[in-house]
Amino acid sequence: MTTAQILSQARGEKRTVLTEIEAKQILGEAGINCTRTVLAATKEEAVSLSEEIGYPVVLKISSVDITHKSDSGGVKVNLKSREEVEKAFDDIMTSCKAYAPDADIEGVAVQGMAKMGTEIIMGMINDGSFGPVVMFGLGGVLVEVLKDVSFRIVPIDKNDAIDMTTEIQGRKLLEGYRGQEPADVECLRDILVKLSDFVNATPGIEEIDMNPVFAYKDGAVVVDARIILSS
Ligand code: ADP
Ligand code: MG
Repeated sequence: MTTAQILSQARGEKRTVLTEIEAKQILGEAGINCTRTVLAATKEEAVSLSEEIGYPVVLKISSVDITHKSDSGGVKVNLKSREEVEKAFDDIMTSCKAYAPDADIEGVAVQGMAKMGTEIIMGMINDGSFGPVVMFGLGGVLVEVLKDVSFRIVPIDKNDAIDMTTEIQGRKLLEGYRGQEPADVECLRDILVKLSDFVNATPGIEEIDMNPVFAYKDGAVVVDARIILSS
């Protein structure tokens, strides 16, 4: 589906939460590299899609009612065989049904296991006074504990993106540390500008969360994405 189709379908259903699959489809159309992510409604489909994508794979709960997937036991990573995928499917369904008995579950999202990189978060929020702002930060403990993030009002240009990636406290970590490869900051800046361009051209978006993005020496990939529409 195209971005326009996804947005009009969600609005038709009076739904403000998009699934990870929908969010990645939209970000992909905006030119942002995301892990290819497909829906499996059944265990059999999960296996055949895993074999098509190639092991190892990741399975995640797909439900508009469950936005924090790990909290509900809805994420299983590094699955290396048919047996592991079958077990992960059952485990995800059991724990998500216990966690959110009324949730409308459409199945699981199947995706390839991305190689670990420097963990980045990027996103957008619609601020009451400033309007849409984009955000950049390092993932993990740096953002959770130290709130080491940088914000700019949309639209941003290349120079704003350069400022955003250089003004965070943890900027040195982007250069590589303890054997970790450096992050492709050029690519991260390009994602920020594309995110801003997309938001600027698309009214009615309340929030976008790309958490985490894995950055490598060459390139970066969004492994989880969430989009909330304005109500
Ligand atoms: P949540 O809804 O809990 O934020 P995520 O989709 O972010 O769920 O998954 C939780 C964690 O699993 C991520 O922070 C990441 O470390 C790992 N993960 C998720 N998807 C992938 C993937 N495709 N490849 C590798 N690791 C992944
Ligand atoms: Mg996440």
